[in-house]
Amino acid sequence: MEYIADIHFHSKYAGACSDQLVLENIDKAVKEKGVGIVGTGDFTHPLWMKEIKEKLEGDNGIYRLKGSDTGTRFLITTEVATIFSKDSSVTSRGVFDRSGNVKKIHHVIMAPNVEAAEQLNKELARFGNLSLDGRPQLNMSAAELADIAFGVDKGMFLYPAHAWTPWFGVLGSISGFDSVEDAYEDQAKHIYAIETGLSADPAMIWRVSKLDRYALLSSSDAHSLPKIGREAVIMDIDGELTYAKMTGAIKEKRLKMTVEFYPEEGKYHYDGHRNCKVSMPPSESNKFNGICPVCRKKLTLGVMHRVEDLADREEGYRPSGAVPFVNAIPLQEVIAHVLKKTTTSPYVLRAYDKLVTAFGSEFNVLLRGDVERIREVDKETGDAIESVRENRVHIIPGYDGVFGIIDIANEIKERKGQNGQSRISDF
Ligand SMILES: [Zn+2]
Ligand SMILES: [Zn+2]
Repeated sequence: MEYIADIHFHSKYAGACSDQLVLENIDKAVKEKGVGIVGTGDFTHPLWMKEIKEKLEGDNGIYRLKGSDTGTRFLITTEVATIFSKDSSVTSRGVFDRSGNVKKIHHVIMAPNVEAAEQLNKELARFGNLSLDGRPQLNMSAAELADIAFGVDKGMFLYPAHAWTPWFGVLGSISGFDSVEDAYEDQAKHIYAIETGLSADPAMIWRVSKLDRYALLSSSDAHSLPKIGREAVIMDIDGELTYAKMTGAIKEKRLKMTVEFYPEEGKYHYDGHRNCKVSMPPSESNKFNGICPVCRKKLTLGVMHRVEDLADREEGYRPSGAVPFVNAIPLQEVIAHVLKKTTTSPYVLRAYDKLVTAFGSEFNVLLRGDVERIREVDKETGDAIESVRENRVHIIPGYDGVFGIIDIANEIKERKGQNGQSRISDF
């Protein structure tokens, strides 16, 4: 059976996350999106863990909300930050050091069951305060974290989150490393995947040959309900769904495809300075030696820049056996664009509900629904979805924490350098 999974997700206990992120709401929203499997997120947080234990039931690592018949399945997941200095020269502000001494990395951890997650929490509590945030900060290295996690249970599945983001990405320009192996040291052999993050897609990552061995995972990393499933992994699992089968499929890269945000829409695609309103591609920022032409400080180098730094292959290279992907735009954003309103406007929400009711889920509308039938329900949105499916999308790239701006074009304005993606009609 085909499953759509959104593994990296958050609860109301993580910083800057909506208080609507409780299990009952997530259960329903996942159903509405057409995502089948979602990570609980934040299992390291004591109060969230309490809710997980009270409200979920299941076996073989796959959980469901007690008394719910939506079909939503939960995985026990969390995200943690490791902060680590290779020597003692941490800046007094405790932030980072451009020389790369302080490494700050986010990791996604999937636990094989609630009991293993609780055991891991006991271990991790020695390295930081797990109650402060659903995404706790731990004073330890990536390798130490991996060592402890796999020591608690070999079934733990750990991988770097949003691998390229300047802050917190394992390969990020500010506090990351040049390779996954440098970060996880002797534990790297137990790392099977990296998360592409919103600002990168697989076509960019295919250019870096040392990443070939990793499965490329995509998740929403959402901080509110409407963002569930904005990125996801689609996989086929035979017979009963179990945690072991899911992680086995990821390890062997037996994935059907990933659904990706347009990377230009991500907040760290280009180089730039948010406050100076400066944004540019790597080719341009190199001319300025990475210095902001307005404030003369170092630019925040985005994901595209880091990919260029580490790439050893030409644009458009596709490794054999690479898992295909499609780019998608969340339906509320598509409708908001069509109606020229914000995504939270009642007009947008009404049009959204109408389409989701007609087709059963958001993914059915975005990926599977016949465009003619979508047009019968909502002519303009049908046109826009056809444009997105054919990649007729123009985006002003995001930079230094600013999201990119989408323009869904009826006339063709081809996106540059994105030769690798498939059309949704290919599936
Ligand atoms: Zn993160
Ligand atoms: Zn500046």
